[in-house]
Amino acid sequence: MWFVEKLQSLRGMVDLLPQQMGVWQQLEATARCHFQRAAVAEIRTPILEATELFARGIGEATDVVGKEMYTFLDRGERSCTLRPEGTASVVRAAIQHGLLNQGPQRLWYGGPMFRYERPQAGRQRQFHQIGLEFLGFADARSDVEAIAIAWDLLADLGVQELALELNSLGSADDRALYRQQLVAWLEQRRDQLDPDSQDRLARNPLRILDSKNPTTQALLQDAPTLAAALAPESRERFERVQEGLTALEIPFQLNPRLVRGLDYYSHTAFEITSSQLGAQATVCGGGRYNSLVEQLGGAPTPAIGWALGVERLVMLLAQVGESQATAPDIYVVSRGGLAEGQALVLARQLRRSGRAVELDLSGSAFGKQLKRADRSGARWAVVIGEDEALLGQVIVKNLQEQTEQPMAAAELLSQFA
Ligand code: ATP
Ligand code: MG
Repeated sequence: MWFVEKLQSLRGMVDLLPQQMGVWQQLEATARCHFQRAAVAEIRTPILEATELFARGIGEATDVVGKEMYTFLDRGERSCTLRPEGTASVVRAAIQHGLLNQGPQRLWYGGPMFRYERPQAGRQRQFHQIGLEFLGFADARSDVEAIAIAWDLLADLGVQELALELNSLGSADDRALYRQQLVAWLEQRRDQLDPDSQDRLARNPLRILDSKNPTTQALLQDAPTLAAALAPESRERFERVQEGLTALEIPFQLNPRLVRGLDYYSHTAFEITSSQLGAQATVCGGGRYNSLVEQLGGAPTPAIGWALGVERLVMLLAQVGESQATAPDIYVVSRGGLAEGQALVLARQLRRSGRAVELDLSGSAFGKQLKRADRSGARWAVVIGEDEALLGQVIVKNLQEQTEQPMAAAELLSQFA
């Protein structure tokens, strides 16, 4: 006996099966609609980019670049990376095509991202994001508008128990000052830190604030805060963001520990979480990144954006209710050489007039085909046997009312047009 080993998808790489697609399509359609209403235009960038883009854009010291990227040499020995996030690519494209010379840009994107993480619920190696980037906007109102678009989209999708957490990371100067204060304070308590945080002390000390280690979290209760290190202008800016959200009646909680994973953030940082998600609670994360465009070779351009995790959002929506798979309008049943040929033509004509048609290709007995017609959820079955085919006729069955009626094929087409 000869065995062929069954192939499996790679760990953390997930198939989306037909039954799941209803929720995905509804979600994508709603997002598209919200972006359109807010004058946000779509952009699509390649999944594969030069590794340097992410090394420069996201920062070598982050988990994403340091540990999670899918990087390889292509056949021309160039180092390539499957994009782990969308912002760096969008900014690269905007610079490369001179979009920023045409004024500020409101952009959105959607698609798969790749991170070599430990797979678990809500955490995959290929996952999907939908994201928004406002490039060339400095005013605090743009932060409010960007957050409001995310909030309203999630609310419109019916996601419950949402919480918006907000922080300000201040300017680069504010952060440099705070970094010194924090490192000085933590150096004296180095032995009380978990190994991961000790490691971060030199490389990326701000990330220690968002450590999941309980002992480290307890220690940080008394650490100097970023809020206290903000310059008056930064503080005032942050207040204007909060006032804007309050005016839009979007509730938020200040979270001084919210620093987010990527290096390029400044001023506003935020996350939208849902208590229904368990450990991987963040559905949407974002913030302001005023230095990224310049860091990638463009003119200094203030910007703000966010990305939401589609799989996590789908988990929340699936709890709201499974949507129904798409049923055809008409199920076409045929048997015999002449009839089968005509059925193929007829199905195509019906589709051209806008009908959703499923054509039974089995050639099995009429009874079996009609059973499948019932199961398909179609309202109508169109039946063609050899007798009908010879006369240019069909039998139309109303599957709900269990009635049937013979009809000329031409008449069928005019009735269903
Ligand atoms: P986390 O702290 O959960 O790792 P993150 O800060 O790395 O999130 P971002 O880079 O801000 O995440 O990405 C935005 C959103 O994308 C997250 O809030 C989450 O919903 C989703 N996301 C990130 N990584 C994954 C993953 N590996 N699998 C599924 N969704 C993810
Ligand atoms: Mg992560």
